[in-house]
Amino acid sequence: MIITVNPSTEEPIAEYSVMTSAQIEAVITSADREYRFWKKEPLFRRVELMKRLATLLRVEKERHAAQISLEMGKPFSQAVAEVQKSALVCDYYAEHAESFLKPERSELDGGAKGVVKFEPIGLVLGIMPWNFPFWQVFRFAVPAIMAGNGVLLKHAPNVTGSAIAIEQLFRDAGFPEHLYRAVHTDLEDVDRLSGFMIDHPSVQGVSLTGSTAAGRAVAAKAGRALKRTVLELGGSDPYIVLDDAELNRAVALCAASRLLNSGQSCISAKRFIVHSRVFSEFENLLLQRMHSSVMGDPFDPAVDVGPLARADLRLQLHQQVLRTLSGGARLLCGGELPSGRGFFYPPTLLSGVCKGMVTYSEETFGPVATLIEAHDDHEAVRIANDTPYGLGSAVFSASTDRALAVADQLDAGNCFINSMVKSDPAMPFGGIKESGYGRELALYGIREFVNVKSFSVS
Ligand code: NAP
Repeated sequence: MIITVNPSTEEPIAEYSVMTSAQIEAVITSADREYRFWKKEPLFRRVELMKRLATLLRVEKERHAAQISLEMGKPFSQAVAEVQKSALVCDYYAEHAESFLKPERSELDGGAKGVVKFEPIGLVLGIMPWNFPFWQVFRFAVPAIMAGNGVLLKHAPNVTGSAIAIEQLFRDAGFPEHLYRAVHTDLEDVDRLSGFMIDHPSVQGVSLTGSTAAGRAVAAKAGRALKRTVLELGGSDPYIVLDDAELNRAVALCAASRLLNSGQSCISAKRFIVHSRVFSEFENLLLQRMHSSVMGDPFDPAVDVGPLARADLRLQLHQQVLRTLSGGARLLCGGELPSGRGFFYPPTLLSGVCKGMVTYSEETFGPVATLIEAHDDHEAVRIANDTPYGLGSAVFSASTDRALAVADQLDAGNCFINSMVKSDPAMPFGGIKESGYGRELALYGIREFVNVKSFSVS
């Protein structure tokens, strides 16, 4: 049984039955049957339905946003923005799928004509996290479906209501009833049931967004079954602030990035690597921002930071803070578990962090900022890359050339200059090292789960 819990009040929201292997088998069989028709649907029909899906998302954005905030606690305005962004990715692929999937023609040696087609591969299983319960799903499912595949979703149990709402949205938009299906498993059974699905011959690809530990487990199973994977995993994004940066702007963006989604984003700013010459000024300004941000009920428009999504995640974050402090870091604000109900954790600033301390090297999934001092650009790059992760990164400087020279040396999937890291349907998104592999969004995203099939005609 899955029981969802409101993280602001700790009260139960709803109960859902966990599916058995036989029920999942039945879901896969019907999705596979639907896929075999869907892959032959002309592209204009897929486009039409995707546009309808975008419209439905926009029309009902507040209802869906309320579900998101209720289940995982993000501030309501951010949940509305998440639903709108999900509509944007539908628009994007509705507009560009034709050019992305258009056959490529060439002249081959000996006069033969070469054609490369991008064909669907079957069912793609998405294993998704709770932190952006709509956006993460749409980001993987929309290009997969536009390419002619079917989709199975294994969502995080604490957002089962969102998983069901998304399934209904696809149906309401007019997609075939079983083309997009959610399956429900609980924490205890996830390993077994995901293995069962990954092994299934109708499932030809797996897209996982989640922790590096989950990535390893799923990739190992997919490797054994020879199924292709895209892994969008954890991150500990460095934000480098050089000594010529416009500090007020840099601090505003750094704080916004760290506190977005109550700090529970893979591409949140997690490590601030600040040049010695501006270190104490940056520290003071960031402290003011962190200190003045408002924590509370996600449905209150004045609130910047809601609760964390689950009790165990809050405890884990608090342990990381305590271990970093016992390693010698300075606590400038936060760092205490609030009394009362809800899984709240206050915006926390740790300064004087250096190698060997916990938040120097571990990902912090909550509103905890880590400040590290660097004496020059070279040292800043070395510290930024001194992590197992390689997802996003940012550099702040008045000189674009200097910032780009630093950015070129960063081991990361993306780098933003004088801005916070964010995903955009038109830009490829993904990481390197333990942040995973493969890319979502843009042309690259839709090409992950296709058969690049070449024809030679003589
Ligand atoms: P998580 O615990 O890894 O869970 C993510 C999903 O993977 C859930 O559906 C989970 O199901 C499933 N899962 C976990 N272990 C599994 C296993 N052995 N086999 C199959 N499925 C398994 O991650 P989370 O705590 O929900 O999310 C936070 C993490 O995700 C952070 O590390 C964050 O950085 C990362 N993330 C990355 C991106 C990106 O784009 N790179 C985006 C968002 C989040 P159960 O919950 O049922 O275990």
